[in-house]
Amino acid sequence: AKTAGRNTLRFFDAAMQAAVTERAVLESDLREALRLQQFVLHYQPQVVGQSQITGAEVLLRWLHPQRGKVSPLDFIPLAEETGLIVPLGYWVLQTACAQLALWALRPETAELGIAVNVSAKQMQQDDFVAQVLALLRDTGAPPQRLKLELTESVLVADVENTIRKMDALKSHGVGFSLDDFGTGYSSLTYLKRLPLDQLKIDQGFIKDILVDPNDAAIARMVIALAESLGLCVMAEGVELEAQRAFLANSGCHAYQGYLMAHPLPIADFEAILGRHGSA
Ligand code: C2E
Ligand code: CA
Ligand code: CA
Ligand code: CA
Repeated sequence: AKTAGRNTLRFFDAAMQAAVTERAVLESDLREALRLQQFVLHYQPQVVGQSQITGAEVLLRWLHPQRGKVSPLDFIPLAEETGLIVPLGYWVLQTACAQLALWALRPETAELGIAVNVSAKQMQQDDFVAQVLALLRDTGAPPQRLKLELTESVLVADVENTIRKMDALKSHGVGFSLDDFGTGYSSLTYLKRLPLDQLKIDQGFIKDILVDPNDAAIARMVIALAESLGLCVMAEGVELEAQRAFLANSGCHAYQGYLMAHPLPIADFEAILGRHGSA
């Protein structure tokens, strides 16, 4: 038994060593990736009613030369730990603003908005507001078309500071959405104080909305809460027409999910605009 124990231990050592090495490799690859321009944004339509596309959420993709397309779930946490999320997030905002500026030039796309995910660490930078305003000014993007998606983790850090920054950007027309709502720890007291425009019902509640009465009750509660606070509400992760219909019956009219479209390269997103009868 003793020998087996030692072998097991040695096995774990080797497995842990491999994981540490793998992580170190990924981290140095990530540092290089920005310089080598290996990132791309995909655009997932946000839809109101049956099929009107009102804009898109931009989602990061890492086109790794060896690993192929790496999911943000596999590198965003590492980017946050290492602080790389700050320059990476800046690139995302810059790219999104440049796209908004292009859309603003054509009547068919002038009304479209872009939602950008902003991580807590990014928002906590002292110059965050100044940087966003400079990007809007330099690209010529209309601020009212930019929506920043925050998760409840930004609130845990420093609510007062976050509210001040949100107010500053809102005074220029930038909108705010609370992402993954219902999965975090923020109290309803915070919710009332935050200058938000929208709540996004987390896709975890949408997944089983037709079969799990608890998820259905939570989704309905979030919709009612949004309404009573005067906020818009959007459901994400909508995959089935029956889920969309259920949400519509419950008073939610804005959706995002594979039912409408997957996140798409910009050319594919623009190609479906006409077909979906957008503005
Ligand atoms: P999120 O902000 O909650 O984004 C929604 C995720 O759900 C996306 O995953 C999207 O592809 C996926 N999704 C959309 N519709 C459906 C559906 O109908 N069914 C299912 N099962 N999934 C759906 P993705 O692109 O892998 O992104 C994962 C997370 O990575 C995002 O979650 C967000 O937290 C983070 N992320 C992505 N891009 C950025 C970024 O530019 N900056 C930051 N800070 N985080 C990002
Ligand atoms: Ca999001
Ligand atoms: Ca989300
Ligand atoms: Ca999420």
